[in-house]
Amino acid sequence: MKVVNTINEVRETVKAWRKQGLTVGLVPTMGYLHEGHASLIARASKENDRVVVSDFVNPIQFAPNEDLASYPRDIDRDAKVCEENGADIIFHPTPEEMYHKDFSTFVNITGPSEELCGKSRPIHFRGVCTVVSKLFLIVSPDRAYFGQKDAQQLAVIKRMVRDLNFDIEIVGCPIIREADGLAKSSRNTYLSPEERKAAVILHKALEKGKELVLNGEKSAKVIIDTVTQVINSEPLAIIDYVQVVDFPNIKVVEDINGDILTAVAVYIGKTRLIDNFIIENGKEK
Ligand code: AMP
Repeated sequence: MKVVNTINEVRETVKAWRKQGLTVGLVPTMGYLHEGHASLIARASKENDRVVVSDFVNPIQFAPNEDLASYPRDIDRDAKVCEENGADIIFHPTPEEMYHKDFSTFVNITGPSEELCGKSRPIHFRGVCTVVSKLFLIVSPDRAYFGQKDAQQLAVIKRMVRDLNFDIEIVGCPIIREADGLAKSSRNTYLSPEERKAAVILHKALEKGKELVLNGEKSAKVIIDTVTQVINSEPLAIIDYVQVVDFPNIKVVEDINGDILTAVAVYIGKTRLIDNFIIENGKEK
């Protein structure tokens, strides 16, 4: 397992693998890896001959008021997680390696990027689609792995791959949780012990909403009101959004007929956490 810092070295390495007829999986991450990332890397390693993990806190997906500077980073620890889960290289570029001083080309996606996090973070998905496109062009993987933890991101990337004809299979992977149900996230490290306890309210609220949908509730408003009420019972929680949308188009629905995503974004203190559930063909995905 090797840490690689330059685009050229990744290209040369992948070229050599291709000459041997090997398949390549890519796992894009922002680092500070946890068991959620590990599950993606392990799956990629099972399904491909070689695995590249990108480890890059992408500046262009953060607004000026967001947590770019404080985002946790630990490349040595990340290298261990990658090694243990079967990755071959970590691509860990500097921002200067990825973005020229006068960088001016962006991948701008409409449609599934417009609701949920797209409303709260207007430049976010443009930054995500731009960096993921660059990673796809640098690594040219056969498959790329994304977590359902960021369900809207997964839908956005699938749409981008379809629209721009990237010849890459996008593999969605289940949400990995802490024992009490909190979705694992690099941002959980921001939480004080008291906030960490409070953060379980996202999962509790979504479980209540999921139970209603699985028992046949058809009104999105009833789901939203129930989830909102549970979250508001926690004094440290401030809701950014609670929304029900169709999946994977990410359009707001009033009646639950087909596949749906129920997604929440909640501030616990200063930390913004997201979580969700998807119901596909009447069952939890
Ligand atoms: P991040 O480093 O947070 O940008 O995440 C990199 C990838 O890991 C994304 O595809 C995420 O959806 C995925 N991921 C993050 N947390 C989890 C989790 N708890 N379970 C599954 N996948 C996750």
